[in-house]
Amino acid sequence: MVKEEELRRLEVNVEGWAARDDSGILSPFNFTRRKTGSHDVTFKVMYCGICHSDLHQLRNEWKKSQYPMVPGHEIVGTVIEVGSEVKYFAVGDRVGVGCMIWSCHHCVSCSEGQEQFCEKVVATYNSIDVDGSPTFGGYSSLMVCDQRFVVKIPGSLPFDAAAPLLCAGITVYSSMKYFQMTEHGRSLGVVGLGGLGHMAVKFGKAFELQVTVISTSPTKEKEAREDLGADHFLISKDQKQMQDAAKSLDYIIDTVSADHPLQPLLDLLKVNGKLVLVGVPEKPLYFHPATLIFGRRFVAGSLVGGVKETREMLDFCAEHNISCVIEKVPMDYVNTAMERLGKGDVKYRFVIDVDQSFSKSNS
Ligand code: NAP
Ligand code: ZN
Repeated sequence: MVKEEELRRLEVNVEGWAARDDSGILSPFNFTRRKTGSHDVTFKVMYCGICHSDLHQLRNEWKKSQYPMVPGHEIVGTVIEVGSEVKYFAVGDRVGVGCMIWSCHHCVSCSEGQEQFCEKVVATYNSIDVDGSPTFGGYSSLMVCDQRFVVKIPGSLPFDAAAPLLCAGITVYSSMKYFQMTEHGRSLGVVGLGGLGHMAVKFGKAFELQVTVISTSPTKEKEAREDLGADHFLISKDQKQMQDAAKSLDYIIDTVSADHPLQPLLDLLKVNGKLVLVGVPEKPLYFHPATLIFGRRFVAGSLVGGVKETREMLDFCAEHNISCVIEKVPMDYVNTAMERLGKGDVKYRFVIDVDQSFSKSNS
């Protein structure tokens, strides 16, 4: 019997795409992952979503990037091997991994199922694993992950369009649940109609909220109403539209990835209204305290979601037939996809067809 430490020393070759510096340009990169340990699930990556966080980190906009970087934290695939202690997953299962691959499982956050706030959490990429090696994400042919961070993808969900649920989906779902932004009939504003934003509209409608999209892109109005079910659409740069909508919203989720003024958004909130930030622009955002004080308004932030809640969110999506609206692209399109994502030119999530991109060399 081979001991786990020995198993971990053995390595398997993986194909991926990496950036070598903060130009963020991706190109082919071969690396190794550990072989399946006793608690690991190994899966062939089929699809991986492109999150704006990938772009922020590729370009070192958050000043914490390490290179070479293989991004990707919306990863789904098919299990090809499980460790001896793995009971819940089997070869052939459709599984996924989101933004985390390890946490301590002893701290308060872990015991409450909020592993994302564990001080020792290991991110799926651009992080250091427990064995000291850099972590590499899902823009690659194979994943090996501790079973505690692997989730099953419900059979009724399309595999490719389910991938972005593992970051875009859980991020908006978790914020809406935690901050109780789900009360039937209330009004929700969604700022920024991208990957996270379009999922917030879908969850908002599933929770039977009145949903207003607040966007910089007039071209997105028709589809927001007709395909996503948005009830109202505001152009954030149209001052008259914004003023007419003052004090009309109970809740706002702000998913904007770039610097933008917060004050006009706060003015949309009713008394006791809540605004939750999930977008992470490069620079700080400002507002005047009086805006909060004279309306008892509330501003908060939220970070992805724990593993248990991710499983709950996937079941919710299966029950309500919710998945992402995607544009599927091959791996060698990824640099163009990043350029387009930077300009807001995607409806609404790029998903890399990883299996098709690498299958020639795998077979
Ligand atoms: P995305 O698909 O690029 O969507 C962002 C949207 O923001 C764009 O589609 C655009 O919508 C709007 N926008 C872009 N530039 C703008 C500007 N200058 N002013 C106003 N609006 C602008 O990005 P995403 O993948 O949804 O991610 C959004 C943000 O959330 C990123 O910062 C990402 O890092 C962050 N994120 C956070 C978490 C978390 O746990 N908190 C998880 C995942 C991602 P319109 O065209 O409709 O204006
Ligand atoms: Zn993400």
